[in-house]
Amino acid sequence: VPPIGVLALQGDVVDHMRALEAAGARAVPVRRASELDAVAGLVIPGGESTTMSKLLEIFDLFEPVKKRLDAGLPVFGSCAGMIMLADEVLDGRPDQRSFGAIPMTVRRNAFGRQVDSFETEIAIDGIAGDPFRAVFIRAPWVERVGEGVRVLARVAGAPDGAAASASGSGAGSGGEQGGRIVAVRAGACLATSFHPEVTSDARVHEYFVDMVRGADAGPVE
Ligand code: GLN
Repeated sequence: VPPIGVLALQGDVVDHMRALEAAGARAVPVRRASELDAVAGLVIPGGESTTMSKLLEIFDLFEPVKKRLDAGLPVFGSCAGMIMLADEVLDGRPDQRSFGAIPMTVRRNAFGRQVDSFETEIAIDGIAGDPFRAVFIRAPWVERVGEGVRVLARVAGAPDGAAASASGSGAGSGGEQGGRIVAVRAGACLATSFHPEVTSDARVHEYFVDMVRGADAGPVE
């Protein structure tokens, strides 16, 4: 069985590898194109999307990753990784690049300065059982989803201060339609604003491992 790669230029690589293994997959770090060729799926971890974008270019990995994503490689991006998958990034740096794998607009650091980090329990569509303890660290949220993007989770009540400090949102606590979008699925792409790899709950990684195993089935939507 081909392994699942974790993009290992920057960010919380080791935690994702541990979580993938807890979910029954073999995980390998990806730092060069030859390593990318060997994987059946890719995790883009949290970290700092501006730095990650720069390092992808320095390591000559941006185009190879983009090419494989365009060809349908299953991918899971968390936090900065979610930003890397978007086709539009708000509050980014002008030179910041993203893969455009998911038609969605993502706002960086959206929950605001007053709440750099918070945890809350959320329901995730497609993940059965107890609510998932979601850890948000300088997290983005999704402001627009395009065709074929399924919303899997929202944060129903943004923590105090989040809505107030979010630029231009104009929305009250939790935003519109039951909250801010924090998890999406589009075909072979999965993205979360939060960090499932920092908890011992492997259900989001199990969901992704299942996506990788079923990848030949083609796009879901
Ligand atoms: N704020 C970071 C960014 O813009 C993401 C934070 C994270 O990945 N924990 O890339």
